[in-house]
Order: sequence, then C-alpha cells, then structure tokens
Amino acid sequence: MFGPPGAGKGTQAQRIMDITGMPQVSTGDMLRASVAAGTETGIKAKQFMDAGKLVPDDVIIDLIKDRLLQADASNGVMFDGFPRTIPQAEALSQICKVSHVIAIEVPDDIIVDRICGRFTCSGCSSVYHDSFKPTMVSGECDNCGSTNFNRRDDDNQTTVLSRLNAYHKQTSPLASWYESKGILHTIDGDRAIDLITSDILSALE
Ligand code: ADP
Ligand code: ADP
Ligand code: ZN
Repeated sequence: MFGPPGAGKGTQAQRIMDITGMPQVSTGDMLRASVAAGTETGIKAKQFMDAGKLVPDDVIIDLIKDRLLQADASNGVMFDGFPRTIPQAEALSQICKVSHVIAIEVPDDIIVDRICGRFTCSGCSSVYHDSFKPTMVSGECDNCGSTNFNRRDDDNQTTVLSRLNAYHKQTSPLASWYESKGILHTIDGDRAIDLITSDILSALE
C-alpha cells in the first residue's frame, strides 16, 4: 500500500485485512510501538519521526526482517507505508516476492486536512476523521465501543509539510520503479472509502 501521508493506506489496509485475513504490516505502527516501549529502535527512530523525516533504511529493514519471521506472515502480508525508498524496495526484493503495489493518489492540498483531523481508537486502532469519517455515535468507536482515542504528535500542520516533502523526494520515485516491473496499480484516493476498497480488491484479483 503506497501513497503520501494521509492517502488512506491504513484505512484501506485494515479493511483488506478484515476481508482477506492477510495481516497488515505497518512500519509506522511498528515504529510507534517501539517508541512507546522505549526500545533501542524506538530511541533511534523518534527524532526522525518528530521531524517528519524518514527513519534510516537499516532500522526499517531490520524491523521488516524480524516481522516476516513471525508465523502469521508465512502466507503473505500487506505492507502499509513500506517500502518508502529505493534501497528499502531493493532489500525487500531480496527477502520476498512483491506481487502487487497499490498506489493511492491524493492531491497535496487535501492531505493537510486529512492529517490534521485524524484520530484512532485506542482499543482497536480503527482510523477516524473529525469531518470525513466521524464515529457514528459521538465519542464511541463504531467497531469496539471504546471511548478512548489517540491523536498522533506528528499529525500537525508543520510536520505534515516535511512528511509530504520526504514523500515527493524519497518515496514517489518508487512508483515508476514498480511500474517498470509491471505490478503498479494506481487508484484515485480522493473518493468515498468504499469505492476505493472495491477498486483495491479488483486490483488484487
Ligand atoms: P502516514 O500514515 O502518515 O503515512 P506512518 O505512520 O506510515 O505515517 O509513518 C510515520 C513516520 O514513521 C514517518 O513520518 C517516518 O518518520 C516513519 N516511517 C514509517 N514507515 C517508514 C519507512 N518505511 N521508512 C522510513 N520511515 C518510516
Ligand atoms: P495513511 O495511512 O495513508 O496515512 P489514513 O488511512 O490514516 O492514511 O487516513 C488519513 C485520514 O484521512 C484519516 O483521518 C482517515 O479517516 C481519513 N480518510 C481515509 N480515507 C479517506 C477518504 N477516502 N476520504 C476522506 N477521508 C479519508
Ligand atoms: Zn475501536
């Protein structure tokens, strides 16, 4: 699952996971868990994440290698927000076969509104938005009923601009890299969430 911050990668990966059973592997979620646990990886990563910069490739590649050794990864996974650089993609190609790359396209001017209104359920990690995807009952998760929610420290106006900049400079060149391998599926992400999910499911067939 490939695209700028706020494109809807996590939202869509959760839905595809619910439908297909394929586990979602989000490097952003793994890094936030390492930061919260205070591990060596978390300590190294935090300064980059706070600044909206990419975490160094070697840190990310080690995380992915460990994750793919876990039993639930043996029949395939859906990566969300990985790879983000050509060296990461090259390292990945040495460890497993990438079958599909789903590129969700959303214009920059929409990204800032998406990021600044994002919140997630603390109980089940469902993703919401103040205006675009509010909970059905105010203050209560649709999926698990929890009344606790999180907002990310890096989901602010300043950091999102550095993240977009990193995306355009370091990550977007990967689209043509994967296109040349014939596995890139481009999807318009500026539409209703359900329509995007059905396009992704068709692309995965
Ligand atoms: P978003 O959902 O907004 O795209 P993520 O949760 O995927 O954000 O990532 C949050 C931060 O974690 C990034 O700004 C970056 O610092 C770091 N990060 C996540 N995945 C990677 C990766 N594959 N390579 C380098 N840094 C990453
Ligand atoms: P990413 O993982 O690519 O950073 P998210 O899935 O976290 O993106 O989505 C970013 C924000 O945009 C969230 O608040 C989410 O609820 C909202 N969002 C996701 N998809 C859509 C969509 N198709 N239309 C409007 N808002 C969306
Ligand atoms: Zn929940």
